[in-house]
Amino acid sequence: MTNHLFSQIRTRMPEAGKAFATLADGRIRTFGDVLADSARLANALVTLGVRPGDRVAVQVDKSIEALMVYLAAIRAGAIFLPLNNAYTPAEIEYFLGDAKPRVFVCAPQQAEALAAVAKAAGAALETLGTKGDGSLADKARIAGATFEDVARGPDDLGAILYTSGTTGRSKGAMLSHENLASNARVLVETWRFTAKDVLLHALPIFHTHGLFVATNVVLFSGASMIFLSKFDADEVFRQLPKATTMMGVPTFYVRLLDDARLTRDTTAHMRLFISGSAPLLAETHRDFEARTGQAILERYGMTETNMNTSNPYDADRRAGTVGFPLAGTEIRITQPETGALLGADEIGMIEVRGPNVFKGYWQNPEKTKAEFRDDGFFITGDLGKVDGRGYVHIVGRGKDLIITGGYNVYPKEIEGEIDGMPGVNESAVIGVPHKDFGEGVTAVVVPSKGATLDAQAIMKALEARLAKFKLPKRVIVVDELPRNTMGKVQKNILRETYKDIYTR
Ligand code: AMP
Repeated sequence: MTNHLFSQIRTRMPEAGKAFATLADGRIRTFGDVLADSARLANALVTLGVRPGDRVAVQVDKSIEALMVYLAAIRAGAIFLPLNNAYTPAEIEYFLGDAKPRVFVCAPQQAEALAAVAKAAGAALETLGTKGDGSLADKARIAGATFEDVARGPDDLGAILYTSGTTGRSKGAMLSHENLASNARVLVETWRFTAKDVLLHALPIFHTHGLFVATNVVLFSGASMIFLSKFDADEVFRQLPKATTMMGVPTFYVRLLDDARLTRDTTAHMRLFISGSAPLLAETHRDFEARTGQAILERYGMTETNMNTSNPYDADRRAGTVGFPLAGTEIRITQPETGALLGADEIGMIEVRGPNVFKGYWQNPEKTKAEFRDDGFFITGDLGKVDGRGYVHIVGRGKDLIITGGYNVYPKEIEGEIDGMPGVNESAVIGVPHKDFGEGVTAVVVPSKGATLDAQAIMKALEARLAKFKLPKRVIVVDELPRNTMGKVQKNILRETYKDIYTR
């Protein structure tokens, strides 16, 4: 048996001298370096006692070395476990206690704060900085540059990614070698990646988007990437002429649109802009196309499932939709409570089945059982519909659904109405406890630059457009919405902030 994921990466590798990643300072890492550096790190991990099936947890700043730890863990037969940089030591304590990694790699400046937490979980603590520094880098430097990949089958785990967990504790999604490999293969096909591509990579690498979607697509197509430590508009415009494709979260595209340098000329050479991880407003899609002539390709995925759907490469990329199921992936819409199948255009629970769908939640069989149907479909928790042309639309997370006076209200419908009003930049509609209605529909609205908004006027304008039960009981104007690093609006924070406005 070979190493299922890494052997596919090896088979597809271009010549050793070809650039894999160009860093912001112009330094280049070749595919040959990828092989040697990941081998050194794999040797270092084995020396630290890592055996097949062990977890290797990592909370470090983005760097090309950190990306190589992912490949090293895979080659060593271990399970890679990246953690968001934003997590505090108290949160890390939970993850390490849950996952019990053999090794925990943190940023050098965090070692002191995390030493006790690592020790309590029984993990060896190593450090890795962004300048080739850290104890793990030191061990790798003196280790051998070749490594015999540990045999792993398609169903063996390659990674555990903890879900962002906006309700309750976050859970570890177990992803197999074939989950990752099958998605990489289908995305290369769907988006037509080739060795000629250069992907602009400005995403974090602790999340499925920057880690698996972006990196594995590059590895599986022999393309190259421009590897930036974070999204910075100046840096993006400096690098854009050398890129052919970009993957981003919607906020990247909003920020590019805010910049006068985004023009038809500066983007004419680009083959493809891809967006995902949060809803891309139809307005952003249209504005981007009007300015550049480029239709952003929106796709939909999640930590547990890798990518599920994508707008088409050749045909109509429809604003406000996430396109069609990927080849090999099935999508169906069901009545959330009963699981009964719904028809075209009916809103219900999005369920998904395919080689991309994870193996379950780490050490949590009850939660795993609760979120799968008997026939293997995963209940995503996203509400949506499939239209008559087969395009999937996402209406929002199930838990964001508002039930007011016994009626279901889909926030997206109301947000769409508000966003279309003059002077509105964006909005988030939430349900918060209400003594008469159970939940009161509440709109939190951000004005466009330089505009002032009148909450009463927004309420009045909505009266003419929406059924009475859908009308916000209150409109609150704020400067900005809370977002996480992936650009997702954190409605849980809004619900917490405004939880007692109707009850106090
Ligand atoms: P995560 O597990 O952090 O990747 O979050 C997955 C969730 O992000 C999905 O379940 C969706 O709710 C949301 N999401 C991802 N892509 C899109 C998209 N293109 N449009 C709307 N929501 C999306």
